[in-house]
Amino acid sequence: MSRPPLVAVVGAPNVGKSSLVNRILRRRRAVVSEQPGTTRDRTYDRAEWAGRDFDLVDTGGMEPNARMGLEALVTLQARVAVEEADVIVHLVDARTGPTDADAAIARELRRASAGVILAVNKLDNPADDSDRHLFHALGEGEPHAVSAVHGIGVGDLLDVIVSLLPEVEPEEEARLPRLAIVGRPNVGKSTLLNRLLGAERAVVSEIAGTTTDAVAGEITSEDGSERYLLLDTAGVGRSSRKAGGVSYYSALRTEEAVRRSDVSLLLVDAVEGLVASDLRLARQIEDAGRTCGVVVNKSDLVPAGRLREIENIVAARMTDLRPPVIGISALTGADIEHIIPLAARLLRAYGLRLPTHEVAEFVNRLVGRSAPPKGVKIRYSTQTGTEPPAFLLFANRPKDIPESYRRYVENSLRDRYDLYGVSVRIRVKSSR
Ligand code: GDP
Repeated sequence: MSRPPLVAVVGAPNVGKSSLVNRILRRRRAVVSEQPGTTRDRTYDRAEWAGRDFDLVDTGGMEPNARMGLEALVTLQARVAVEEADVIVHLVDARTGPTDADAAIARELRRASAGVILAVNKLDNPADDSDRHLFHALGEGEPHAVSAVHGIGVGDLLDVIVSLLPEVEPEEEARLPRLAIVGRPNVGKSTLLNRLLGAERAVVSEIAGTTTDAVAGEITSEDGSERYLLLDTAGVGRSSRKAGGVSYYSALRTEEAVRRSDVSLLLVDAVEGLVASDLRLARQIEDAGRTCGVVVNKSDLVPAGRLREIENIVAARMTDLRPPVIGISALTGADIEHIIPLAARLLRAYGLRLPTHEVAEFVNRLVGRSAPPKGVKIRYSTQTGTEPPAFLLFANRPKDIPESYRRYVENSLRDRYDLYGVSVRIRVKSSR
């Protein structure tokens, strides 16, 4: 579930970013040419040091627009790292000494909340590191000497990187995704929960964390590959659930369950269709930044065409999330085998993480198909977050990008990457 922290290697062209990344990953990738800007294939790679996992991004390929000046290009690269990374390695070249581009990057990185490590590359003779001291002028602390090509100093650099990684809570890593089934009273939540849990209801109390989390039980797909903790949104674990004050407490319980969930399924009554409180719940799920699927219950009571009707209403009324819709009968058990695949699909969308170059290329293609208003240029795009996916576009005049254009990008991403039911966040920032 939770992703490892992200480490970005930034630096002026040709300082050896790709060589360092390859050295850390202990493999040779594409041949690194001496020409600036020749390594374009950038993605997140998983690395490991001293028992800690992290993702490594080499920002060297971030050169979408050749007409951009060198300085604009390197500061843009730094800015992306500032947005994305937990730790930033600013790589410089001992042979050139501090350059204007290095200083421009250092200026950008000053705004980073992430830890910044200054590394001086191409110090192939560690005995003579007098060149290293020149880089104190960048104001980024002690310069660490490395030779990416010869592998000198890289282990020490990794020690420093790992020491700056944010702590991950151990239970976070093993955590099962949480599924909440929400809906107004009498829509069939307890009937569905009981049916999904079946015989496993008996062992609920043995599941770790049940007491604090109000977990009703664990559900598993037929082949065992998908496992979820089902949150108790119906009060099935309580003996006197219909006792006084139900609506207040059930509203609280719903709010809490949505917040704790990764995936929320909104249960809707097939007979009554979509009502105002359903829309409120969908909004609540969206505001909490969670994912939402619509499950139409009581299909046994309605004619076959009813699901299609409700689908159309959902499409018309839930235009922000555009959630997927399935129909079931909790009472008869019809089609409830579609619940776990629906949750899996939403969870995949929720945790989507695209390689940097893929986002940039995708948005470039969108711009090619339908350009923003005249004079407005989208210089670069990147994914800045996941769960839910968040994207950042850098534009020369961000204020001149209309809401409709942001929606165009959002919906195109949703169509391409199956982000239905997920609140996709898109921000636009100045590239200057
Ligand atoms: P909750 O308040 O959302 O937990 O709803 P309940 O699970 O208590 O269900 C309310 C009523 O609807 C009960 O009488 C259920 O038997 C009935 N019900 C639930 N699911 C179905 C279904 O798929 N078909 C039919 N016909 N009735 C259902």
